[in-house]
Amino acid sequence: MDDPRCTRREQSRQRILLQGDPPTPANSPTGCRFRTRCWRKAELEAQGADTTPCVVEMEPPLEATAVGHPAACHFAAVRDVV
Ligand code: SF4
Repeated sequence: MDDPRCTRREQSRQRILLQGDPPTPANSPTGCRFRTRCWRKAELEAQGADTTPCVVEMEPPLEATAVGHPAACHFAAVRDVV
């Protein structure tokens, strides 16, 4: 039987619709390979934050987060969403 708390959380969760097409594996972008479609990077740039690590640094490693699931994002500690 499903946990009703999980169902409520799932129903109230905001869906994030990605824009654009995924890059071809033969021509992956530098840095984070998700950066060409990343809503979080766009949000940070709109706030005036420096997102250079998304572009020039190595692919972010998969690391544990405070919310109990791992994330591969240079900005996962800024806000636990990715
Ligand atoms: S490192 Fe994080 S914020 Fe930057 S592009 Fe990748 S997922 Fe988006």
